[in-house]
Amino acid sequence: MVKMEIIEESAEKIKILFKETDRAFANALRRSLMSNTPKMAIETVRFQMGSFDLCLSCSHLNPAAVARDSSGGSGCDNCGKKLEKEGVDYNVWETNGALPDEMIAQRLAMVPIPTNHEQFHYEETCPNCKDLVHEDRGCPACNMIYTCKAFGSEEGTTVTAGDMIYLGDQSLEIPEHYRAIPITKLYKGQMLEFYATAVMGRGSQHAKWSPVCGVTFVPRQVGILNVKTRAKMLWDLNLEITAKDFDKDGRLEDIAKVETLVRELHHVGDGTEVKVDFNDAITVEEVPGEFIFSFETDGSMAPQTALKMASAALSTSFGSLEEDLVAAL
Ligand SMILES: [Zn+2]
Ligand SMILES: [Zn+2]
Repeated sequence: MVKMEIIEESAEKIKILFKETDRAFANALRRSLMSNTPKMAIETVRFQMGSFDLCLSCSHLNPAAVARDSSGGSGCDNCGKKLEKEGVDYNVWETNGALPDEMIAQRLAMVPIPTNHEQFHYEETCPNCKDLVHEDRGCPACNMIYTCKAFGSEEGTTVTAGDMIYLGDQSLEIPEHYRAIPITKLYKGQMLEFYATAVMGRGSQHAKWSPVCGVTFVPRQVGILNVKTRAKMLWDLNLEITAKDFDKDGRLEDIAKVETLVRELHHVGDGTEVKVDFNDAITVEEVPGEFIFSFETDGSMAPQTALKMASAALSTSFGSLEEDLVAAL
């Protein structure tokens, strides 16, 4: 059974030591994290199109022209104020920002959507929707809807991920850290209004559903002090690692220190004058069956959650493989 030991962990990064395993397992988990971990991402966006007269008395948006005095309108729908002069009584706003809708939709897809695996399901396994045809799917257990209504300004206003409002529980708003992600920039008279629907998906379908980046693993190494007298050449350089870091058997096992040692050995290794004299007085060797695994998430979920969901996905696919084998044999 694989053993895991967390070496470092933050809100978005994790480094884990795997023991009693092999490269194939670590790689299977790596691929599962990238391509088979359930994650929420925006899949469809409905853009509201049109132009509006913004009443400057009450900020109500009237459909363009109909309420204007010049076209025989009876004034603002909300407060009844006469809309006579543009810039005094009303301002005209149009959904005509510089970026095409497709590009905005693509950018929205890349915004990390907080993913709660207990609350949401894939549409195809959603308890309410799984028996429906594809077009009819979508309910509060498998869809998350964000809305956005933003206006430009004379000097230009950047619409960001934080301008999206989640229709539902506040904990699922775009996290503070990611609210500054720019979506588009609007100038005076330009507005943007849309409804964006996020669904659960897998990285194998589209990169927007991949919750991780920089998923790597390397064999765990330990430092070996072979010849104390010659090792002095390294200590004399006054770097970070010293003879005291090695235990009485001449081994250095601390993971962070080994990383430093590997870096520092470049001072006496290939391409240096002292390589011949140093002659491998200190070497590093790989620990069989142990790997250091690390990755970052995009902020849609905590690294431990991603790891759990990736392991569950992996065990499901191997579970069905077993069933298939039993059925076939
Ligand atoms: Zn009004
Ligand atoms: Zn559903």
